[in-house]
Formats: sequence, C-alpha cells, structure tokens
Amino acid sequence: MNRRNDISLLPYNTFGIDAKCRSFAEYDSPEELGEILKAWQGKGKMLHIGGGSNLLFLGDYDGLILHSNIKGIKNTDDGLLRVGAAVVWDDFVAYTLENGWYGLENLSLIPGEVGASAVQNIGAYGAEAANFIEGVECMNLTTGERRTFTNAECHYGYRQSIFKTPEEKGKWAVLYVNYRLSRTFVPQLDYGGIRAQLERKGIALDTLTAEQLRQTIIELRQSKLPDPKVQGNAGSFFVNPVVSRQKYEALVKEYPNMPHYEVSAEEVKIPAGWMIEQCGWKGRSLGNAAVHDKQALVLVNKGGATGQDIVRLCETIQEAVRTKFGIQIHPEVNFI
Ligand SMILES: Cc1cc2nc3c(=O)[nH]c(=O)nc-3n(C[C@H](O)[C@H](O)[C@H](O)COP(=O)(O)OP(=O)(O)OC[C@H]3O[C@@H](n4cnc5c(N)ncnc54)[C@H](O)[C@@H]3O)c2cc1C
Repeated sequence: MNRRNDISLLPYNTFGIDAKCRSFAEYDSPEELGEILKAWQGKGKMLHIGGGSNLLFLGDYDGLILHSNIKGIKNTDDGLLRVGAAVVWDDFVAYTLENGWYGLENLSLIPGEVGASAVQNIGAYGAEAANFIEGVECMNLTTGERRTFTNAECHYGYRQSIFKTPEEKGKWAVLYVNYRLSRTFVPQLDYGGIRAQLERKGIALDTLTAEQLRQTIIELRQSKLPDPKVQGNAGSFFVNPVVSRQKYEALVKEYPNMPHYEVSAEEVKIPAGWMIEQCGWKGRSLGNAAVHDKQALVLVNKGGATGQDIVRLCETIQEAVRTKFGIQIHPEVNFI
C-alpha cells in the first residue's frame, strides 16, 4: 500500500496538469482497498483514477485519489482472461497476441489501464472493449460491497457504461475485468485507412497476421495522435455531435464537403474535428493551450498550462462552432 498526502498529480495525468490532491492511496489488493475506505470514512470526496489519460484537473483536488496496483492476467478457463485493473491496456493487448488470443488488435496503443477500459468502453478502428468484456469485478466505494457486473448490466454504448451514468458515476472501484477472447484471428480492416496502410506496407491480406495488424494500427495512431509523453493531451477532447437529419441537410447545402456518419434514419453524426478546423482553430493556441496541428479534435498542453487554460480554449472553440454551425459540442474528457 502506498499512502501520501498533499502530492502533485503531474505524474498521474497525461494532460500534464500540475494540480495537487489532499490525499493519495494506491492499493495492492481488494482487502487493502477495503482498509483504505474504512480509514477514509467521513473525511471527504474520493476519485478513482487509472492512468489519467482521460482526465482534466481544473484545480487542486480536495479529497482522496485512489489508484489500483492490482496487476496480473489469469487465464481462468479457455479464453476467459481475468485482468487486474492496473495492467496497462496496451501491455494486455500485446500479451493476448503473444499468447494466441485474438480480438483486441484494433484497440492497440490506446493509453490507460484495463480498469478504465471497462468504465470508458474504449474503442478504435471499428472495435470496442464491450464486445469482449464478460464481467467487471468491482467494489462499492461507500459500502465496501463486492459485485460483478455482467456485460448486460454494464449497459454499454458508444464510449458509455453504467459506470459513467449520473446514478453510478464514482461509486465503484473496478478491481478486475474479465475478457473473453478467441483462438481464431478474424481481422477487422474496414476502418480508418487500415487497408490502405497494409497496401502501402506491401502486406497481402491472405497472409496477414494479428501481430502485423497490431503494428499497422500502432503506426496509424502514431502518425495522427500526439504522444502524451512528448506533448500533454487526453486524446479526443470533444465528442462527435449527433444532429437531426433536418439539421444536417440544411448545413450540407452551405458546406457541401461536410463529412458525416449515418446514425439512424433520423440522425447523423458530424466530426467535431472537421468543424473545429473550419472555424480556423486547427494548430492555433490560446496561452499555453493549443489545438493539435494534425488532429483538431485533440487539445494539447504546450507546457505549463493549467486546467483553467484548457477550459478557456475549450469554451472558445465551443463558442466558435456554435456560431458557425449552430451545433453545441461537448467535451469527452472527464473534468475533475
Ligand atoms: C493520445 C490519446 C489517445 C487516445 N485514444 C483513444 C481511443 O482511440 N479510444 C478511446 O476510447 N480512448 C482514447 N483515449 C482516451 C483514454 O485512453 C481512455 O479513456 C482510457 O480508457 C483512459 O484510461 P485511464 O486508465 O488513463 O483512465 P483515467 O483517465 O484515469 O480515468 C478515466 C475514467 O475511468 C475511471 N476509472 C479509471 N480506473 C478506474 C478503476 N480502476 N475503477 C473505477 N474507475 C476507474 C476514472 O474515474 C475516470 O472516470 C486516448 C487518450 C490519449 C491521451
């Protein structure tokens, strides 16, 4: 167990925000978490973090920050892997391929830890964690009760889960996630330029291996997204908004090149990054906060930005998009 008071959260968030917290505790087992929770009773608020790659600290955190140190991957029955919440997500993906378990290739290199993968329902290149999660083993942060949520009980949707709803948010610590994978490699290639990249690399589809697909995804991601170790960021900052078809049809008359994704007969999704770029914000800065020059959906810390600097840029962009397109865009990142 590792408990400290009044520490900087700089090593615990990829945005590189130098906020502090009143108390910090890292536990090695569910039993240790139980002890920490008992000792903290009545002392104030709590926040469970993972790798801090989807958090924006707006200021110091006057409460207890919890972090799991539960590691380990156990093959409990054929294809069911019980994974500690603190396992780094991409280490888990690499492990699955090394051991001949398939399904997670397209989710390679997403930052963060396995615990958060079940909270966030991480997704990329046409795949999402929810398709492989069988159960999520949790502890209630108030009562210490242990409960396993089945996949159905997690109510997964696009980057959504029961753990993000107003009723359940912040109530549970994820201890382990049970992933069900396959011994058969079925490549998913129809998203985000995967086929084109394989062609460029001269890899034939009939000999494609899971490891080659993983490396291709890694290259695609590295070419588009800033590395948080080099420039602080939290990945996609805004959610792509879903608008009515009527609204989309009115806009496309004015902007014939506007990209879109079909959602349903009534609704259409519009890439927020495209709108931000049209507003002239791609690559622009406001103080120490900036819009990434290759991907306008990503806000970056140029060095020394505070949470409030990032919020100022966020609000300025929201206002620009609202004025030009009449659409409200919302942050995907968790504001703390
Ligand atoms: C460069 C970059 C690229 C990214 N690309 C993608 C992408 O392609 N797809 C995608 O989906 N996301 C992406 N993200 C976002 C991020 O990687 C995911 O949201 C990831 O799941 C966050 O994991 P984390 O461990 O860092 O969680 P944190 O950011 O620490 O926490 C995220 C949320 O999960 C909760 N949480 C974390 N661990 C636990 C736990 N053990 N128990 C209970 N609650 C917990 C936190 O309270 C918080 O609400 C990207 C981020 C970056 C920086």
